[in-house]
Amino acid sequence: MNRTPLLDLAGQHRWIRVEIQEAMRRVLDSGRYILGPEVKALEEEVAAFSGTRHGIGVANGTDALLLTLDAWGIGPGDEVITSPFTFFATAEVISRLGARPVFIDIDPETYLLDVEQLEQKYTPRTRAILPVHLFGQPADMDEVTAFAKDYGLKVLEDAAQAIGAEYKGRKVGSFGDAASYSFFPTKNLGGYGDGGMVITDDEELAKKLRSLRVHGRGSQSKYHHIALGYNSRLDELQAAALRVKLRYLEAWNEARRVKAEIYDQSLADLPIVIPTVPADRKHIYHLYIIQTRRRQELMKHLRDQGIDTAAYYPVPLHLQEVYRDLGYREGDLPVAEEVSRRAMALPLGPELDEVAQDGVVAAIRDFFLG
Ligand SMILES: *Cc1c(COP(=O)(O)O)cnc(C)c1O
Repeated sequence: MNRTPLLDLAGQHRWIRVEIQEAMRRVLDSGRYILGPEVKALEEEVAAFSGTRHGIGVANGTDALLLTLDAWGIGPGDEVITSPFTFFATAEVISRLGARPVFIDIDPETYLLDVEQLEQKYTPRTRAILPVHLFGQPADMDEVTAFAKDYGLKVLEDAAQAIGAEYKGRKVGSFGDAASYSFFPTKNLGGYGDGGMVITDDEELAKKLRSLRVHGRGSQSKYHHIALGYNSRLDELQAAALRVKLRYLEAWNEARRVKAEIYDQSLADLPIVIPTVPADRKHIYHLYIIQTRRRQELMKHLRDQGIDTAAYYPVPLHLQEVYRDLGYREGDLPVAEEVSRRAMALPLGPELDEVAQDGVVAAIRDFFLG
């Protein structure tokens, strides 16, 4: 039986193998392996792609968030408002700095921060808002940035899942004070290992981040330090490979959109929730998410036919064991909790072929209609 994976990374590699090998060879022969010309070129290319002035390559997407919040001086006593329905790293970085994540509930159809609740959760300790462009769909950036402006808050966009997505005709990552990308292999622009980047228009922030990622180094020399920093560098091999992949990103995102539309049309009559995309947004379908009350059964039915799926995300962040002392209880964020019980991802990627996708659709239809 042919297996249909959630995402076929080896298949993606086959398309570009020769170009990747050439790029890797260039780096291997160069003798520069960390923070060299490939990283610098990638930073410029990703910033230009995103419509921002600066790109700062770091070791991973988590560090892109962490170093930015740190550069803003966020720490003990501060609060950062974010979503309870996202990958753990989004909130982890807030806690890691000694600040407190404050969760607000999500919209039940788009899974994005419910911006109506910002007002309720704001306190004088609030320093920043960390909206997540979840599953490849842009958050409500006009409302977020307007609120932040009124209250003097920073905005950090978690764009780990949404490179190339658009809000009102503009790419995500260019709305907040800064944004983070992850180049984890499964992301829409994924490397062959870990990688991440901060993008921003803020020159001063860019400068701070370039220092923080190399142990808070000053401009005087390698061995003069002006801050307590990190070892969080992007390497040349990843950057060279990512530069190749960046050239395909728009086409790959478009291929995802086409396949998402096929799912939309083929599943619309079933008793499930399919993605909702407001008219002013371009979703790039990092994941194609459906909701069903029968998630476990459906996942088993598909697995028995060789089709991989995954629950996204099974535990909302406010109910994570490690966050017990934040004082949230079940029922506090009912939408995120319900969605956590129902949401699952179907196989999707630029390499998903028609036969495999037809198989997924047929198996789901068979499950509900028999
Ligand atoms: C992947 C991801 C991150 C973390 O990125 P890493 O590169 O894995 O550190 C952060 N936030 C979200 C929403 C993600 O999906």
